[in-house]
Amino acid sequence: MICSLCKLEKAPRKNTHYLTDSIIRTALNEDGVNERDKGIYFEINPDNLFSEMKFQRGASPEKLEELLGRATNDEENQQSRRKIEFSVNDKFCKECEDKFGLIEVNFNEKILKYYREQKFSTEIDYIKFDVNESKIVRLFFLMQFWRTSICNDTFTILPDVTEFLRTKILNLEYEDLECIPLSVTYLETLPDEEDINVVTREPFNELYKGTNHVSVVEGSNPYIILMNDFVIQMYDTNRLIFESFYGLNQVGTFAIFFNHNKDEFMSPIFLNNKRKEFINAFTKPVAKLKIAQSVEFICLQFEQKFGTKPDLNTIAKYMDELANVKQTNKFSVEQLTKFTNDFLEKLY
Ligand SMILES: [Zn+2]
Repeated sequence: MICSLCKLEKAPRKNTHYLTDSIIRTALNEDGVNERDKGIYFEINPDNLFSEMKFQRGASPEKLEELLGRATNDEENQQSRRKIEFSVNDKFCKECEDKFGLIEVNFNEKILKYYREQKFSTEIDYIKFDVNESKIVRLFFLMQFWRTSICNDTFTILPDVTEFLRTKILNLEYEDLECIPLSVTYLETLPDEEDINVVTREPFNELYKGTNHVSVVEGSNPYIILMNDFVIQMYDTNRLIFESFYGLNQVGTFAIFFNHNKDEFMSPIFLNNKRKEFINAFTKPVAKLKIAQSVEFICLQFEQKFGTKPDLNTIAKYMDELANVKQTNKFSVEQLTKFTNDFLEKLY
């Protein structure tokens, strides 16, 4: 294998994350339980309901019921959970993986506390990093974009910017990165008041930590990646065209928070309520549509065939089988129709 960072013929390092694991982990655990194969997740692409649809094995009828909104009105619980590993097996060698690790450790030790251990308020809703801190922030987050561009086929940054970042990461060079417009929004993630013990002020559980998303958003300029409590954006051009992205960016502060050619780095904070508004705004329409469409689809087909609606176990079984098809995410309407018919043939 030719390693994508050092460009040398090397043995691949298996199972390496292209989004930093320590950042995204809590968002990938369903209901705070670290159990595999229990998620129902979706790609963020409202224009195409059938392709990019993925359901993971082990989705329970209760979970589907929850997603269908029949049994609960807790809107937050209706959001499907993403459980993609965001890792690759054949792109980087061990030495280069260690370099990623150095950049990650530097960020974790010197920067992360300003986000995750800070108390924010309406008066403190941004962080301003000094020149040296800004370099660490930039290289760490630009590395996420670079690795995603290398590892995720749907995400492609311009070749000269990709090459520029490759040499910076390879040489652990923190200089001159401010030429790339970069924005890092931090989503303050707190438990709801009713989930906190009134005496100890401790949260009852860790569920709230699983309410953010990990997603590589389709499209470019800005390129957008949701990394749990961080939403990062970059441009590979100097022309910054405004994009709101469900309220993530505002016209008045847009230029400031992309930190283009600035020595310091400004990072906006979304307080917990604003975080929830943002997450709801961008997941709700897509989630509802996709879940409704696929479930509606099997229900319709089932009813046509058997003259009655399927029970939740049948729907869950359908989702399980759908998840086991290799190319489910590429399914067209025709393919889904065929798959559904085949599934119905096997019943009874
Ligand atoms: Zn290498």
